[in-house]
Amino acid sequence: MDALVWTERERMEFKDVPRKDLKPGWVRLKVVAVGICGSELSGYLGENSLRVPPLIMGHEFSGVVIEKADNIGFELLGKLVTVNPLISCGNCRTCQKGQQQLCRERKIIGVHLSGAFAQFVDVPANQCFSVKDPYYGALVEPLACSLRAVERVSVKAGDIGIVFGAGIIGLMCMKFMRMMGAQKIIAIDTNNARLMLSKDWGATHLINPLKENALEEIRKAFPQGVDCVVDAVGYSKTRQQAIESLRAGGKVAFIGLHENPSTLTGDIIVRNEIEIYGSFSYCNDDFSKAVAFVNEGLLEDLGNSWLDRRSLQDGNDAFQELISGKSGYSKIMLVP
Ligand SMILES: [Zn+2]
Ligand SMILES: [Zn+2]
Repeated sequence: MDALVWTERERMEFKDVPRKDLKPGWVRLKVVAVGICGSELSGYLGENSLRVPPLIMGHEFSGVVIEKADNIGFELLGKLVTVNPLISCGNCRTCQKGQQQLCRERKIIGVHLSGAFAQFVDVPANQCFSVKDPYYGALVEPLACSLRAVERVSVKAGDIGIVFGAGIIGLMCMKFMRMMGAQKIIAIDTNNARLMLSKDWGATHLINPLKENALEEIRKAFPQGVDCVVDAVGYSKTRQQAIESLRAGGKVAFIGLHENPSTLTGDIIVRNEIEIYGSFSYCNDDFSKAVAFVNEGLLEDLGNSWLDRRSLQDGNDAFQELISGKSGYSKIMLVP
């Protein structure tokens, strides 16, 4: 089958790879659409220890189920599905508490196992969910990540929120904040095209830190600070600004991963009782909810200027465009 294989730092090769036998309990999908995730950009740059070449990445995808292992019945055969790519053991303490994403045995399709940057991808049957549209279907995964982050900071009606980073995760966080009743939402990003898109996703204030001082602008608009923040960037600076922009008693979720050692002002965290939450991927419940939101049309009134489709063959160029930081698209999908 055709596949886009990450072979070394900054190199994706489009080539023919052999198909493996289907494992018991698994099904085979013909991939219809697969998104490129921000975490894959750091993988591509060799900055992500979980991803080891040669690897077929791709964990946000939809496809048609074309084959099933002999040992199972499967009502979704022939249907369009999206897949929860996070496979957990189901037995450990975190799994049993419903936090499958924290399972130490977790394996992610496209990270530890071959992913969907290919004509076909094999997945466990019980991780498949029926979807109506292949492109929106491929967005369930980032939507589930965003839902978790926004739920971590328990947004309430009338809240003022900030989202650092207007990539797809940031945009989806704005959408959920709005849905949960946030009255004002500040979007912060250095890329103007992305910043402009934020309005469609619920942002009421836009700040480009290359043009203005973000903290000053936030304080001008909301002198007492904001109620909740999602940092979908993950630099030391955005983490610190998130803390400084909160009102006393405010909450922040860190979902972006960019700069591991970060300098944070501990005294402000203590004196203002700032609540800091890590947010990693999604539990099974978040994923099911995201499927329902997508199938109910959550993403359908947002136009499509934020999304671009490319052929799988042009995958390397798409990665290059995204790491340049100049792409005007929040999401690029590859179509095998
Ligand atoms: Zn992802
Ligand atoms: Zn487990």
